[in-house]
Amino acid sequence: MPRGVSFTGEYLSRYLAGQKRWNEARGWRAKEAEAGRPSTYRDYCHAHGLCSACAATGISLNDNGSGFKAIGWNGNLLLYEECDACGGTGRIITPS
Ligand SMILES: [Zn+2]
Repeated sequence: MPRGVSFTGEYLSRYLAGQKRWNEARGWRAKEAEAGRPSTYRDYCHAHGLCSACAATGISLNDNGSGFKAIGWNGNLLLYEECDACGGTGRIITPS
């Protein structure tokens, strides 16, 4: 059972940072595509140590890739599924 987290605090600030990163990602991808290198959003995330499964927010994306996966309520607070791939950190975990 995945952990439910509210979209506040560190998750919210990661999400906002991701919004700002979007233009940078687009520039990076255009450059890589021109150079004939892998240039998907996934590749961008990988090259920057970001978790692509949750767009570096720490909260799982919906299976269709748009929006975040809500899993229930805690009182009147909507809970989202913490990203399993990065343990909610938003960064790639390198197995040691
Ligand atoms: Zn993740």
